[in-house]
Amino acid sequence: MSRVFVRQATYESRVLRPMIFEMMEAMGGAEIHKNSRVLIKPNLLSPATPQQAILTHPAVIRFVVEYVLEKGAQPLIADSPAIGSFETILRRNGILDALRGCDCECRPFQNSVGVDVGEPFGAIDIAEEAVRADVIVNLAKLKTHSQMLLTLAVKNLFGCIIGYRKPEWHMRAGVDRQMFARLLVQIGRTLKPSFNLLDGILALEGDGPGRGGIPRQVGLLVAGRDPFAVDLAVCRMLGLDQEKVPLLKAAAENNGPLPEPEIDGTLPAIRDFRLPCLTPLIYGPRFLHAFVRRQLLRRPVCDGGLCRLCGECWKICPAGAITPEDKPLWFDYNRCIRCYCCIEICPFGALRTAETLAGRIVRRAAAMILPSGPVG
Ligand code: SF4
Ligand code: SF4
Repeated sequence: MSRVFVRQATYESRVLRPMIFEMMEAMGGAEIHKNSRVLIKPNLLSPATPQQAILTHPAVIRFVVEYVLEKGAQPLIADSPAIGSFETILRRNGILDALRGCDCECRPFQNSVGVDVGEPFGAIDIAEEAVRADVIVNLAKLKTHSQMLLTLAVKNLFGCIIGYRKPEWHMRAGVDRQMFARLLVQIGRTLKPSFNLLDGILALEGDGPGRGGIPRQVGLLVAGRDPFAVDLAVCRMLGLDQEKVPLLKAAAENNGPLPEPEIDGTLPAIRDFRLPCLTPLIYGPRFLHAFVRRQLLRRPVCDGGLCRLCGECWKICPAGAITPEDKPLWFDYNRCIRCYCCIEICPFGALRTAETLAGRIVRRAAAMILPSGPVG
C-alpha cells in the first residue's frame, strides 16, 4: 500500500509553503542532500497564465525549489514544452518572477539518451537530465485530457520525451489508446520519480489539457512517492472506475492490480468534475481500423473565428494532415490518426473534436444495446 497525502490548499504562501515542506519531508526528504542533482519537472505545456490552470502554478514550483535549496542540493527546473519558447512560458506563467532570488537553473531539456523501457517499445529517447538525476520531483497539474481522459502524475513524465519526438510517439502508439497508455506507464516505471506533487488547487476540467479546458477551483494538493498511487487517489476522488482511465487500466494490465492508496488526510468526493468526451480510438477487426478511424472517431475541427493561422498545429501534426492555407483550416481526415496533438497545443483554443455523422449513429445505437458502454 502506498501512502498519498491529500491537503486542502491555496496558493497563498503562508498556507502553501509549510504544506509543501511538510509533504516533501513526509515523502522522504532525507533523500535530498548536499550536491544531489534534483530535477524538478513541472507541467510547462505552453505559454499560459496561472489563471488558465494549464501549467503547474509558479508558487508550487517556488516552494519546492526553496525546499530543495534548504537541503543544500542543486535544483534544475526543466521540461520540454509542446509549444512556445521556454522563456515565454516562464514569463507568462509568472515563474521568472516567482523564482527571483532563488539560485536555481531553469531551462528546457537539452539532450536525449536511449533508455530501455521494456517491450514492446524497447529503447526510447528520454531527456538525459531526467535519466541522470539523483532525485526527480514530479510537479504535475490536475487536468483533463482529450485523449487520455486525465493527465496527472504519470502522464506528466511524458514531458521528458523531448520536443518533436512526442508527436512521433503519438504517431507510433497514439492510434491505439491502450498502447499509448502502456508507453506512458512504462516511462513512469522507468523514471520512478520519488516525489510526486499534483497541483489540484486550480484544476482544469472539460476539454483539457490546453485552452479548451475550463479552470475549476478544487483546492487540493495531492502527493506521494508513487505516481500511480497519486493518480489512483484522484480517480477515486472523481468517482471514476479505474478500468475507464486508460493509463490506470494499462498499469494494472502491465503489472497486476494497483494497490489501493493509503490516504493521509481527507479525500473529498467530487462527482461533477467535467470530463472530456472520449470515444474508442480503435476497435473492431484490424482490417476495419482505417475505416473506423476515418468514419467513426471524433475528428479535429477548426473554429475560423478563433484561429490566427499561427501554424503550431500543422507543425506538430505527426501525420501531415493539416493544410496550412486559409481559415478555417482544412484537415485530411484520411491521414489524420486522431492523436489530438493539434487540439492540445493550439494557443487560441480554436480546435476541438466533433462527432462524425456515422459516429453519432453508431454511438446512439450502441447506447441502446449497451446502456453503460466503455468510455475508452
Ligand atoms: S488552429 Fe490554433 S494552432 Fe492551428 S493555426 Fe489556428 S490558431 Fe494556430
Ligand atoms: S490533424 Fe490533429 S488529430 Fe489529426 S493527426 Fe494531425 S495532430 Fe493528430
